[in-house]
Amino acid sequence: MQFENTEAFARKRDTEDPLRKFRERFHVPLHNNREAIYFTGNSLGLQPKAVREYVNLELDDWAKLGVEGHFHAKNPWLSYHEIFPSKLSRIVGCLPHEVVVMNQLTVNLHLLMVSFYRPDKKRFKIICESRAFPSDQYAFESQVRYHGFDPGEAIIEVSPRAGEHTLRTEDVVATIQHHAESVALVLFGGVNYYTGQLYDIKAITNAAQATGAYAGFDLAHAAGNVSLSLHDWNVDFACWCSYKYLNSGPGGVAGAFIHEKHVANADLPRFAGWWGFKKETRFKMEKGFEPIPTAEGWQLSNAPVLSMAAHNASLDIFEDAGIDSLVEKSKQLSGFLHFVLQEINGRQHREVIEVITPESARERGCQVSMLMLERGPEIFAELSDRGVIADWREPNVIRVAPVPLYNTFEEVWRFGNIISSILER
Ligand SMILES: *Cc1c(COP(=O)(O)O)cnc(C)c1O
Repeated sequence: MQFENTEAFARKRDTEDPLRKFRERFHVPLHNNREAIYFTGNSLGLQPKAVREYVNLELDDWAKLGVEGHFHAKNPWLSYHEIFPSKLSRIVGCLPHEVVVMNQLTVNLHLLMVSFYRPDKKRFKIICESRAFPSDQYAFESQVRYHGFDPGEAIIEVSPRAGEHTLRTEDVVATIQHHAESVALVLFGGVNYYTGQLYDIKAITNAAQATGAYAGFDLAHAAGNVSLSLHDWNVDFACWCSYKYLNSGPGGVAGAFIHEKHVANADLPRFAGWWGFKKETRFKMEKGFEPIPTAEGWQLSNAPVLSMAAHNASLDIFEDAGIDSLVEKSKQLSGFLHFVLQEINGRQHREVIEVITPESARERGCQVSMLMLERGPEIFAELSDRGVIADWREPNVIRVAPVPLYNTFEEVWRFGNIISSILER
């Protein structure tokens, strides 16, 4: 696709966009009575208008039925979570019995580490990316300590090379091989929250498993954003939140994937709760935990239905749009943004904005991270004043995520146009 940094081009692309109608299904925040340019769907996705109806249905059933709603609600609460596996399996690329919706992200990360990080004297290391999201770093550190090891020795971070911002797969693989005898778990993000880099999940998984280690992924910035094939890539486990690209509301219920080869393994240690117990005999309430032989066997508690109703409203939009079409548009939108930013640099005859997200569409999702080499805080402040909702990360990075469900080519053009007008003043 040939891009042009003009309003006419952007508008034409929007008219031709087969997904253009989906924007109407979201509430877009206003800025001075005009729709803001909302580029923070990587942080909190917009509210689908249908959420209210989905949540109200559960509120009404609760009001009318009380406890009977567990059996007689329109979507019985006892099995509410069973709505999700078929919908989510299409988004993360797995079999329905490999996926479950439960808890929140960091909780699921811990629960999965209980099963898949079982260090011994010989194998105790966790290999991860440098600058992993802080919550993940704290989870790794506390798990390592919990098992009596020293995080300084046990946590091996792979860093970009000097002068580079993103990781090379060959360096990740080499690090795994270097620690082949002592690594217990390789645990990476899918898309790094800071650089927007999409890692080669399959290559990392293969390298980890070749050493005898497990491979797990935190897909907070990948689920609903990039194309995933967790089952085929043979990933051991993964988890994600639902409030970023999956638009399911602040602190919304999260997801977890456990590969088919592990789901029925009752010998895997786990922290158990009654909702993970075999359904046929759960309510006999007897001693002796017997897990459901699917990802559901990792559940602890009964379904948080109000939060799940919001999740369901959003996933139905993904069902209608189709993840493949979304990913295709996302590549175009972000590709256009890369192009516009390069054009701005070109017009200034120097690099004002260094895009640290990989340019290749295979190595990124929606997000574009811009290292501001000049006037960063001033540009960010003016973008905010002019109705762009973006994200600032110290020391000098603006992160923006044009999301295919609700952002437009025209918004990308306007964003670039605001930056140009500041630089040309
Ligand atoms: C957003 C995000 C989190 C947030 O964790 P919660 O448990 O949902 O608060 C954790 N890890 C990563 C990689 C994230 O991007």
